[in-house]
Amino acid sequence: MARAKGMVVLDEDRCKGCGLCTSVCPAKILRLAEDRFNAKGYHPVEVVDMDRCTGCAMCAAICPDVVFTVYRQKRQPRQAVATA
Ligand code: SF4
Ligand code: SF4
Repeated sequence: MARAKGMVVLDEDRCKGCGLCTSVCPAKILRLAEDRFNAKGYHPVEVVDMDRCTGCAMCAAICPDVVFTVYRQKRQPRQAVATA
């Protein structure tokens, strides 16, 4: 079965560090960057492992500040390897 593969692009300076997206991401790949600030002076959201993003768009749905753009594509199913 094909698996969904996703990717998010962040407009980081729109983020106000509320943390809503980090709580809803099923893949648990979003966190607030505690070591830096964005242009608004907040710790912005960051993605820790983009390979695990499914493109479910839960983050975009809950974010009040339109930080996320979500891309999604289907992975092709792996071909079976023929054995002699
Ligand atoms: S699209 Fe889904 S899996 Fe990807 S970062 Fe957003 S909530 Fe997480
Ligand atoms: S929900 Fe939006 S504003 Fe809140 S931390 Fe996530 S990206 Fe930032």
